[in-house]
This record gives sequence, structure tokens and C-alpha cells, in this order.
Amino acid sequence: MAVLITGGAGYIGSVTVDLLRARGEDVVVLDDVARGHRSAVDPDVPFYKGRTGDRALVARLLGERSIDACIHFAALAYVGESVSEPGRYYSNNMAEGLALIETLVAAGVKRFVFSSTCATYGEPEQVPIPESHPQWPVNPYGWSKLMLERVLSDFDHATGLKFVALRYFNAAGATAQRGEHHVPETHLIPLILDAAAGRRSHISIFGTDYPTPDGTAVRDYIHVSDLATAHLQALTHLRAGGASECINLGTGQGHSVLEVIETARRVTGRRIDAQREGRRAGDPARLIAVSDKARRVLGWEPQLGALATIVGSAWEWKLAHPEGYPN
Ligand code: UDP
Repeated sequence: MAVLITGGAGYIGSVTVDLLRARGEDVVVLDDVARGHRSAVDPDVPFYKGRTGDRALVARLLGERSIDACIHFAALAYVGESVSEPGRYYSNNMAEGLALIETLVAAGVKRFVFSSTCATYGEPEQVPIPESHPQWPVNPYGWSKLMLERVLSDFDHATGLKFVALRYFNAAGATAQRGEHHVPETHLIPLILDAAAGRRSHISIFGTDYPTPDGTAVRDYIHVSDLATAHLQALTHLRAGGASECINLGTGQGHSVLEVIETARRVTGRRIDAQREGRRAGDPARLIAVSDKARRVLGWEPQLGALATIVGSAWEWKLAHPEGYPN
């Protein structure tokens, strides 16, 4: 049996494809390569180019391949874009996700691992954030992900579909083969490393008046390899007959923007100019996971959690792939 990986050409998806194959799993990738990169997936991996909402394509794929589970990464993931183009986000992330789930269930595939997000919590009432925290997103991206969590839970009740929704905190870092290449890039670590590489003049610090020790925003950065491992463990949980679960993926450690910049200066040995600017709209002061549930339910333990390791791995990838993936 093979695992269907939607969005397997994306950042976290491509690392998960590599990990599953290294563990002897057969995988099939479905990706429209609108935001992912075809060259992020080895040519010998069965690859279907198309959309998760294309019911005919997904039904054909399921007919041609023997699939026992789906890991669903494919989604749009820019918060700002979701605010200006909500229809695209509800259509792509929610409606196409629903179509995918219906097509899978109709074909008898009832194990589903979902790329969810800490954005489903919205502005946190308490930090660190447990899975039981109220979910009231502050942008359409978070709502589109939360709605699919709801869909999954209702399908569990109605059809016995079992799912693990993994609520990522800040994915970062790279493996030797795969790294982060978004167009446009908006994430802190790749932008800092672009400044280190001389590809941009400076890094902007969005907000220096947060109620945090140094005034800059604090996030829980998690290595993309550790994220990938959690997906494999979620799959194992479901194959063992485990119940549906929503689980945070973070290290439980917070790092401020200034700390990340300092770490990058140390790791790269390069000059990185930083400019203090105003807050970016919609950014909470602190996002840190309570990460016990992943340890308890999945047996997950971050192996590459140190910030210097995360930043160092991203730097190695940037040095090896200054332009990212070829177009
Ligand atoms: N950030 C920043 N400058 C940038 C990009 C991001 O100061 O050029 C800050 C951002 O405001 C947030 C943190 O870095 O507090 C992480 O942002 P990122 O976009 O990487 O992830 P997010 O937490 O928004 O998912």
C-alpha cells in the first residue's frame, strides 16, 4: 500500500516524501506545482500534477494506485493574501480539501493526516497554547484550516474516517536535499539568510514594542525534519487503530526575532543589518506550543530543536541553492 501525499512538492511535503521513502514506504504525490517545485520531488516518485479538488483525477489516481492513507499538505498559506483574497483560501483550502476527503472516503481510504496550524487558535488567551485552547482564527487562512478540522471530525462521526490534525507552529530549517523556497518569501529565517547572503540589504524587524523580554515577537520554531517525523508517527498511530486527534507540533521553546537574528549572525559569520519597523498587522506577541500531547500520543520528540541547528541547516541549504529550486 502507498501513501498519497498532496502538496508533496512543497516545503514540508517534500521533506516528508523523502523521509517516508527512506523508511521504506511507497508514496504517490499529488501537487499542482502552483507554489511547490517539481524538482523538489525525485523523478522516480509517482507524480500526479493536479488539484486536490479535481475529483475525477483523484478518483483515477486512487483507482491506479493502492492507497491506504493520505497526508494532506496542499494548501495556500499566506495570511496576508488570505485577508485580501478570502475566496481563494476558502475555495482552495476548504472546498477542495472537502472534495479530497469525500473522494478518499468514497474509495475506502479512511486514514488522513492533516497539515493544520496554530493560526486556528487566533489571538492566544494563554501561552504556551494547549490543544484545548479556544479556536477563533483572526484571518481566513486560519479559518479555512479550522473548517477542515471540523469537516474531518464530522466525517469521523459519519464514516469512521480517522485523522490526525497536526497544528504546526513555525516550520523552519532544511535537509541536505530540500529547503524553503517561497515566492514571494515572507518568513523570517529565509529572509534573514538572504540578508546574510547579500541578496537583500537588511532584515526588517516588525515590531519592537511587544510585551516580551526584548520587545520583539516570540515564536516556537520547529525543524522541518522533526515535522516530517511527526507525520510518519501520525500515520503509524492511525494504522495501529488510533483515535482521531488534534496535536500541536512545536518544541515548547520560544525565540524572539532579535534572538533569531543574533543566532543567524553567529551561525553564518556574516554581517546582517537589521532595521526596526512597526508591527506587521495580525501578528500576536507570542506563539508557543504546549507540546506534551505529541510526545504522549505519537511518541514524538524533536531531535533538531536547537535554534542554531535549525538556522544552520537553512544556511547550508541556502549556500548550496542560492537561487532555491530551478523554475
Ligand atoms: N518577521 C520580521 N521580519 C520579517 C518577517 C517576519 O520581524 O521580515 C517576524 C514576524 O512579525 C513574526 C516572526 O518574525 O513575529 C515570524 O514570522 P514568520 O512570517 O516567519 O512566521 P509567522 O509567525 O508569521 O507564521
